[in-house]
Amino acid sequence: MRKLLIIILFFSCIGNSGTQGIKPLNIIILIGDGMGLPQITGGTYANNNESELENFKNIGLIKTFAKDDLVTDSAASGTAFACGVKTYNGTIGIDYKGKEHISILEICQKIGYSTGIIVTSEITHATPASYYAKVQSRDNHEEIANQLSSKNINFFVGGGKKYFVDRKDKRNLFNEMQDYDFVNNIKEYNKSKSSKIGFLTYDDAPPSLPEGRIPSLDKLTKLTIEKLKTESKPFFLVIEGSQIDWACHDHDIDYFVEEFKEFDKTIKTVMDFAKKDKNTLVVVTADHETGGFHILGGRILKENSYIKGDFLTTGHSGDMVPIFSYGPHSENFSGIYDNTEIFKKLNEIVKK
Ligand code: MG
Ligand code: ZN
Repeated sequence: MRKLLIIILFFSCIGNSGTQGIKPLNIIILIGDGMGLPQITGGTYANNNESELENFKNIGLIKTFAKDDLVTDSAASGTAFACGVKTYNGTIGIDYKGKEHISILEICQKIGYSTGIIVTSEITHATPASYYAKVQSRDNHEEIANQLSSKNINFFVGGGKKYFVDRKDKRNLFNEMQDYDFVNNIKEYNKSKSSKIGFLTYDDAPPSLPEGRIPSLDKLTKLTIEKLKTESKPFFLVIEGSQIDWACHDHDIDYFVEEFKEFDKTIKTVMDFAKKDKNTLVVVTADHETGGFHILGGRILKENSYIKGDFLTTGHSGDMVPIFSYGPHSENFSGIYDNTEIFKKLNEIVKK
């Protein structure tokens, strides 16, 4: 009798998969750090009036305030959308009462997803760290690297190699992460067949695009998606255009436009994949606006368009930031809501 029941259950499961297509969803989150509406507008105009973001149909706005400040930093906002809780500026993965919270990336790992993180800052910087670390201070890069070393993220790419191999405690995390292939350049990254690769692109923070940063974010994204596809599991991938923020802290328009253009190209690379795949949810957003930027002039031309503008602060602003989504369940992401809702919406989707 019990055997029969198991057989019936087995076949009813197969039946379901046939009709509903139960293959779990791939999720790709793209974060333009500091990419508020002024950066999107200015970046688009300066890109000869074109942006991949114009092709999205589901658009919303998110409130970005931190627990202790209407103006957030990247740690508090990263924690909000990675873990679904408000916290103090500077804190990662821990709420204002001191409780640690699991991130959406960690939840996905638990249910069998492959994972990846690609950034143009240090891999231990606040935004990527929000997906895997729990620390009171975002400045504790060596502890963040230590936590990353045991997180089993399949593919991670970013700067900050020194936090792994040149540490105060004299440990070499590369030696401890025996199951990883550590590569030194894009050729080696491409060639490696390992299902766990660390690509630490620079010892410190990667340079800016005007200073010649390589490899490009869109190339890294393309290769990483290829790798995740061969894993034959669903995947969760986080991509950050980290330096849109840094450029706006510097009040450097040419720098932020360059960074925006690379990020925009990366969004296109992701969308080209998602459109073909048809089983990938893409979410593009920002953690906050940086610089209180306003466009005050410029010109749209066939090529070499430019913008002029001014900044109100060397810090961040408290403005709401746009969120764009594409693919299955993308309609859930339109409207105006709190940044913690991004975690909650994703959590509901992956638990279905
Ligand atoms: Mg960041
Ligand atoms: Zn910033």
